[in-house]
Amino acid sequence: MASSAASRNGAPRGGGGARSLAGGNLRSSSYKSRPSQLPGSTLRRSSTGSFAAAGDDGVPGRVRVAVRLRPRNAEEMVADADFADCVEVQPELKRLKLRKNNWDSDTYEFDEVLTEFASQKRVYEVVAKPVVESVLDGYNGTVMAYGQTGTGKTFTVGHLGDGDTASRGIMVRAMEDILADVAPETDSVSVSYLQLYMEAIQDLLDPTNDNISIVEDPKTGDVSLPGATLLEIRDQQSFVELLSIGEAHRIAANTKLNTESSRSHAILMVHVKRPLIRKSKLVLVDLAGSERVHKSGSEGHMLEEAKSINLSLSALGKCINALAENCAHVPVRDSKLTRLLKDSFGGTARTSLIVTIGPSPRHRGETASTIQFGQRAMKVENMLKIKEEFDYKSLSRKLEIQVDKLIAENERQQKAYEYELERMNQEAQNRIAEVERNFAEALEKERLKCQMEYMESVKKLEEKMLTNQRKHGSDGIIRNECNGEDQVVSVSDEVAEVRKLLQNETQRRKASEEEVNKLNTRMGQLMQSEAGGDGEILRIHQLLEVETQKKKKLEEEVMILKSQLLQLSYEADQSRRYMERVGSGNGLNGTDSPSVNNGEKAPVGTLFEQVGLHQILSYLESEDANVQIHAVKVLANLAAEEANQEKIVEAGGLTSLLMLLRKFEDETVRRVAAGAIANLAMNETNQELIMTQGGITLLTMTAADAEDPQTLRMVAGAIANLCGNDKLQMKLKSEGGIKALLGMVRCGHADVLSQVARGIANFAKCESRAATQGTKNGRSLLIDDGALPWIVQNANNEAAPIRRHIELALCHLAQHEVNAKEMISGGALWELVRISHDCSREDIRSLARRTLNSSPTFRSEMRRLRID
Ligand code: ADP
Ligand code: MG
Repeated sequence: MASSAASRNGAPRGGGGARSLAGGNLRSSSYKSRPSQLPGSTLRRSSTGSFAAAGDDGVPGRVRVAVRLRPRNAEEMVADADFADCVEVQPELKRLKLRKNNWDSDTYEFDEVLTEFASQKRVYEVVAKPVVESVLDGYNGTVMAYGQTGTGKTFTVGHLGDGDTASRGIMVRAMEDILADVAPETDSVSVSYLQLYMEAIQDLLDPTNDNISIVEDPKTGDVSLPGATLLEIRDQQSFVELLSIGEAHRIAANTKLNTESSRSHAILMVHVKRPLIRKSKLVLVDLAGSERVHKSGSEGHMLEEAKSINLSLSALGKCINALAENCAHVPVRDSKLTRLLKDSFGGTARTSLIVTIGPSPRHRGETASTIQFGQRAMKVENMLKIKEEFDYKSLSRKLEIQVDKLIAENERQQKAYEYELERMNQEAQNRIAEVERNFAEALEKERLKCQMEYMESVKKLEEKMLTNQRKHGSDGIIRNECNGEDQVVSVSDEVAEVRKLLQNETQRRKASEEEVNKLNTRMGQLMQSEAGGDGEILRIHQLLEVETQKKKKLEEEVMILKSQLLQLSYEADQSRRYMERVGSGNGLNGTDSPSVNNGEKAPVGTLFEQVGLHQILSYLESEDANVQIHAVKVLANLAAEEANQEKIVEAGGLTSLLMLLRKFEDETVRRVAAGAIANLAMNETNQELIMTQGGITLLTMTAADAEDPQTLRMVAGAIANLCGNDKLQMKLKSEGGIKALLGMVRCGHADVLSQVARGIANFAKCESRAATQGTKNGRSLLIDDGALPWIVQNANNEAAPIRRHIELALCHLAQHEVNAKEMISGGALWELVRISHDCSREDIRSLARRTLNSSPTFRSEMRRLRID
């Protein structure tokens, strides 16, 4: 047996370049599956793990290479029946022995050695599954089948396994795993299926599209075929259909071009896009038969043709050599295939190569070269690395977006939840309200019904009772009721019960009525107490008013008392003066003013200061006549003192007094006011003020109107004072002052007559003065106004004051020649002669004598009458 021979020859390690290459790879037998790298990614570990891919992040990976031996086919069974296989596999040692001759063989070690009995499932799991897992984790991955035509590349990679599920190849199984792992809502899986022949890329999903160009991203170096049909895969079934369509197109295209499918490369590209994982690409390549590389030329093919046909494959070999030798230059750009697989070798991808070999010794050379290719590929290092920066950045961005979306969604849901809660709450409340309403209604209905029933039954019972009473008399009901004893008893019980109920009800009603009454009483009390508050305020207001009135009254009383005091003080003062005068024998004053007060300062001044002039004047307007009287008295007393007069006039006292005369409400007021005016009229300035304020007319009117002798005395005194003012002569005459003065003699009172006489004397004195000064020429105004008869009549009056004033007045009149004629005819000459003879006062006697002698008219008349 060949196997025993191989065994016998041992396993020479080293022995030639191939051996040395293989030997260098012995260490690679213990690779383990890479642990999962991204959070949340599903762990999909192949069950064997022995062929599993390269190291952890950043740890250099290597192209994994497995060798698969095809079983002898029918032809070989016959043709090679007498020959041993050219290879011997030792799968447990992952070694393969290639027979050199009958006695020698070379041993090669691979990442996996798959015998002719290896199942498709196992092949997938050890060769492709780690790559598929890597792709699902976000890495690019490539699985290629390399080998002589007929050794089982297509069987291994592209078999659809229509009839036998177990015979399904890598493409079908890979897609099955991918579809099982992705989430259809978020992830997407799409495929392109291409054929590369004579350096042209054809679309197996769209045969008319037969010259697809390769595009490389200058930044990332990513290779893509934008012109190729890209179909999204939703389910396994459609994918298998798609593969078979592609296969059919491949056959048709090759027939048309008169080519063999063994000369072309079939490439399936699977694009996987997952939101949280960077997009990745799985490239499954069913390469063209490797025999063309070696046999071209030697079999007489045109060089160009051979070059063209096998350019891609030979370029792949060169690249693998360069990578295996760590050459600085890798001729990736030499062919379309190497350009397409650029990121499968020496890049960041995970790559598996399955080399297929046949057992026939007739193809030993081909098998050897295939094995060599595989051995060199095992030396190709590729770095399995994620572009971390990019990945983290994009991941973080995606996560942020996701988080924001979730926050927004959460907020929406929260709001919706709150709204819903509110709505439910409202609804529940509405329902509760409705139920309550319904319940209340039902209750009311029930109550009414019960009431009706109760009334009815009571009525019935009463009727029955009445009938029974009528039938049997009032005391025989129970005994005589035939067969109805129980009924009657029960009825009377019912009645009793109903009565009891009625009683209870009545009691309850009474109780509630009492309660209502109590409440009413309480409310009344409350209202009263409230009203009491208002009443209290009203009462206080009234009290306040009463108090104010009292205060006013008291003030006025004080005022009255003060005025009385003043009056008394004044009177006392007057008496004291009189006593003094009598005692000292000091004769009489020249005038008889009613209120002259030349003495010391009376207590009036004190009062004046205490009460205040304005206050006194304001009392003049009081509505209380008593107050008014006292106020005017006080003012009059004040006005009696010369020192106060100016102040009184300044404060408007004179005007107020005149006003009182004009209004005339009370005789006393008028009298006192007139007295005060008379006192003020002693002053020359005031006399003029009285005149300008219409005082003469007021006094004239009062003189004509008044009856009271004291009032007349005061008015006469006032006018008499005015008569002593030279400037007022004409005014007094024109406003009726002289006539008013003469009119007052009607009352016959000595005091009045005395004031009238004083006024006439004052007037006459002023006239004679004016005549002497030459300011007056005409006859006396007194004579004009008819004063002469009264003068002559009273010239010898018994009352000394009257007689004295008249004697003086006659003397003054006689001094003016224009009056002489009238005086003579009026009988005044006789009186003057008598005065010159009999007057008790010596000064008046001589004045009369001088006057008579100085007048030519009087002298001639006396001569005529023979008077001495
Ligand atoms: P290649 O694609 O490399 O030219 P194929 O896959 O077409 O080779 O295989 C050629 C023949 O060998 C096919 O009929 C296939 O069914 C058969 N075959 C290949 N490998 C196996 C295997 N491992 N077990 C059984 N039959 C196989
Ligand atoms: Mg094939």
